[in-house]
Amino acid sequence: MKSALITGITGQDGSYLTRLLLGKGYVVHGIIRRSSSFNTGRLDDVYQDPHESSVRLKLHYGDMADGASLRKILREAQPDEIYNLAAQSHVMVSFQQPEYTADITSTGVLRLLEAVRDYAESTGKKPRMYQAGSSEMFGATPPMQHEGSMFRPQSPYAVSKVAAHWHCVNYRDAHGLFVSNGILFNHESPARGETFVTRKITRSLTRIKAGIQDKLYMGNLDALRDWGYAGDYVEAMWLMLQQDEPGDFVVATGRQYSVEDFLGIAGEYLGLDWKKVVEIDPRYLRPNEVVSLCGDPSLAKKTLGWEPKVDLPGLVRMMCDHDLRLAEEEARAVASRIRTGVQRV
Ligand code: NAP
Ligand code: GDP
Repeated sequence: MKSALITGITGQDGSYLTRLLLGKGYVVHGIIRRSSSFNTGRLDDVYQDPHESSVRLKLHYGDMADGASLRKILREAQPDEIYNLAAQSHVMVSFQQPEYTADITSTGVLRLLEAVRDYAESTGKKPRMYQAGSSEMFGATPPMQHEGSMFRPQSPYAVSKVAAHWHCVNYRDAHGLFVSNGILFNHESPARGETFVTRKITRSLTRIKAGIQDKLYMGNLDALRDWGYAGDYVEAMWLMLQQDEPGDFVVATGRQYSVEDFLGIAGEYLGLDWKKVVEIDPRYLRPNEVVSLCGDPSLAKKTLGWEPKVDLPGLVRMMCDHDLRLAEEEARAVASRIRTGVQRV
């Protein structure tokens, strides 16, 4: 039975990758952060009672800021494959917390690489590692972006991901570690964080439709992105670690839409005129914007045999259907509070 370690298991991609690997028969170890509130909600449906002897999902407390915890977890988990998904992953937040972003998203990767190198040397094992790189690394380089395109990062997040990418290349070249960099373009799902633009749109428009929200405040509607489905993209991560040789791969759909297009498709599906409810709020405009991203996934197709299955209209429908159910539940809860006279204070 193969064993995998996932950092960032509680995030969007972590939850999809966990399902994929459990489905393939892996024992899955995940690193979670200590938090005063539950942060494992995305794993609820795959959670396994640690008291059961057959348990194949094991969670460990650790942090990318804490190299000692990473070393300890590697010794305990003895993974064949390591998927580094942990990051301060929000571009706008990275302008507000640049040092923290660099510490987790860049130096954290270096801590993990050092821990993996020690683990490999001391055990004689040859673990394979995946690093979650981002299309943001291309930044100001115009489309189509591919593996040979220049990195011109436009935010502390993107600079940190570029540094992490080169740390991984360096550990591959200098120490012979099997490390593959995915350069993933934006990918979304019903589990996407609610402050990323697609989920913010589907959450808000469905709440407006259900009568529990009035307005949706947005930033730059002209930005162009290549949006895919997270469920498809975690397959590409897994495929990268099944190759004979490590490498760097763009994972994208090759199709581009604007934020305004996304609003239009979601609005039409929900029967809402988004122009009547959207207002521009300058607080959501970034100090530096990445104007246009569209990836060329030819290498992933040729080498990994990977292709996306869900297109943007299909993704919008999936996210709207999910969020409409959430909004209707919320609306029922609000109505019942009003009926019974219970007020929130
Ligand atoms: P996400 O939902 O924001 O998840 C990030 C994960 O990292 C969460 O599990 C989070 O834990 C964990 N984390 C944050 N800080 C940590 C720390 N100090 N120590 C340990 N864990 C920490 O992101 P995602 O969308 O799943 O993306 C996964 C990875 O791919 C990230 O590295 C992201 O930057 C990268 N990426 C994403 C996209 C995309 O479009 N989704 C595109 C390209 C690259 P908590 O749950 O406790 O916060
Ligand atoms: P990113 O591509 O990793 O930065 O992913 P996001 O989903 O955070 O943002 C995608 C694009 O949507 C960026 O160009 C943002 O400037 C733009 N955008 C416009 N309005 C908003 C908003 O209200 N929230 C976010 N997160 N992005 C917005």
